[in-house]
Amino acid sequence: MVEFFNPTWEDIEEQIFKIAKRMADDSFYPDAIVAILTGGVIPAKLFADILNMKNIKYIDIKFYRDVNQTESKPVIKAVYVNDLENKKVLVVDDVSDTGETLEAVSNVISMFSPKTIRTATLYVKPWSRKIPDYFGEEIGKWIIFPWDKWDVVRSNPEAPVSKKEKYFELHEIFSRKRS
Ligand code: 5GP
Ligand code: MG
Ligand code: MG
Repeated sequence: MVEFFNPTWEDIEEQIFKIAKRMADDSFYPDAIVAILTGGVIPAKLFADILNMKNIKYIDIKFYRDVNQTESKPVIKAVYVNDLENKKVLVVDDVSDTGETLEAVSNVISMFSPKTIRTATLYVKPWSRKIPDYFGEEIGKWIIFPWDKWDVVRSNPEAPVSKKEKYFELHEIFSRKRS
């Protein structure tokens, strides 16, 4: 049975502050943020506001897998990135599991000649091959973020999340209309 961990919005804010404090203690002051789509977008926005940065860049990468199953490699779908030359880049995602996503994204970013690349995720799995430079906590469970709970319940209807009946009802309507 899959074990789930549901961080609250409070938990997420705590992890963000913790990580930002560590960056400040390290005197790491990024001048570019790259968010990994789509789970990294909200954490990246929270970091951007703390780091006093307006501009966020994005990399669309998909690891086609579900809770606790991994496929071979993530696939880069699109790169919405510019002006990274000589910049101190912070790459942000919600969680690192195998570490493949951070590795692939770091490889892409290095082609834009940045000065440095550091990675940050709110959580990391204990078995991750690539440990992010900054992370909030290590969690060996499937994490259900507030921003991707519907993605999780769609394939795991037993997952412990609130309001899923509402979600299924509406999702069903839109799915039927489009098919
Ligand atoms: P990795 O490439 O490190 O194996 O996986 C990282 C990506 O997989 C993340 O961007 C995230 O989208 C997804 N992922 C991995 N573990 C979890 C998890 O526990 N919960 C959720 N919601 N997504 C995860
Ligand atoms: Mg992701
Ligand atoms: Mg995801």
